[in-house]
Amino acid sequence: MQVFDHPEFDHHQQLVFGCDEASGLRAIIAIHDTRRGPALGGLRIYPYSSEDDALTDVLRLSRGMTYKSALADLPLGGGKAVIIADPRRDKTPELLRAMGRLVDSLGGRYITAEDSGTSEADMRHIREMTPHVSGLGRAGESGDPSPYTAHGVFCALRSAVRHRLGRDDLDGLRVAIQGIGHVGAHLARELHVAGAQLTLTDLDRDALGILANEVGAVTIPPQAIFDADVDVFAPCALGAVLTADVADRLKARVVCGAANNQLATPEIAERLHARGILYAPDYVANAGGVIEVEWQRRSDYSHAAVMAHVERISATIDEIFTRARHEDANPAQVADRLARERLEG
Ligand code: NAD
Repeated sequence: MQVFDHPEFDHHQQLVFGCDEASGLRAIIAIHDTRRGPALGGLRIYPYSSEDDALTDVLRLSRGMTYKSALADLPLGGGKAVIIADPRRDKTPELLRAMGRLVDSLGGRYITAEDSGTSEADMRHIREMTPHVSGLGRAGESGDPSPYTAHGVFCALRSAVRHRLGRDDLDGLRVAIQGIGHVGAHLARELHVAGAQLTLTDLDRDALGILANEVGAVTIPPQAIFDADVDVFAPCALGAVLTADVADRLKARVVCGAANNQLATPEIAERLHARGILYAPDYVANAGGVIEVEWQRRSDYSHAAVMAHVERISATIDEIFTRARHEDANPAQVADRLARERLEG
């Protein structure tokens, strides 16, 4: 396995490989950058088919967290952790405690949180071994950041619609949402209140039917979502959905959703740009969750302050779209450049 010559290696400050024979732990923690603060990022448990796949994921995701926190103006750096295991089969309290010891060994340079394959209950096991865990919620409240993520996506979407479609209101705007899980369902409700006409899809047909009924939406099969005749496509399910084929098929003029790593490859951003489709960079639009998680660490937490911070996503995304227009560049490139400027500035 190559590390320093790995295509996703980008001056990462530290990589830690952890192994615990008794619990079966095989984990990697990547600390990309701590110039703005401790490296915060979720812990993913996934049955990677190879160590190289796990390394690729952790390197890419940790750098994404650096950029996300920088553009969300948070005093945080970027990090991420992965455990190579099947969360349904291999996840045990012992495994999580061993992970907690590994996180603790970094003395707070890395702060962990939930991600795919981990839950709030898992974070509590990790918390037994280290204080460097975030997103556990405040006294008596759930730590679920999804409503904040959804609100940030809503703000980004409104900006994108203003820039691309020249309209301030969302009344009658046609939006297709892929995935109505934690974030997608909240987003659907906010858009419904704002007057949007929704087309929804999800693999979970029962949940889909209930939500569609609530928000007066049309439902379509998962594979039909890319061809929906809509103004906005909101990917809120999986990463890498924006492939070359999808970029060529989309009828929407705006892409703005919550999913992480929506671009299958960086070149897709250029392909969308060439077709006149305005892409809201995912890590800018979906930063509401990490903003709320960071506020949970502060003593002056208030719902109003968190919402005000989340709503600043609009100004950031406006700046990105404006620069992209002036430079005739794609917004993904501009966002990366702006993040690097903030890191160095
Ligand atoms: P979730 O697991 O609650 O919801 C995902 C939904 O997508 C599920 O309902 C699932 O059935 C559906 N889905 C999966 N594959 C699909 C497919 N092929 N077609 C249609 N639907 C499909 O996840 P979530 O917390 O809502 O997060 C959604 C996305 O946003 C993820 O990519 C996540 O990484 C990202 N994200 C979430 C947060 C957060 O606060 N939860 C923050 C930042 C980014």
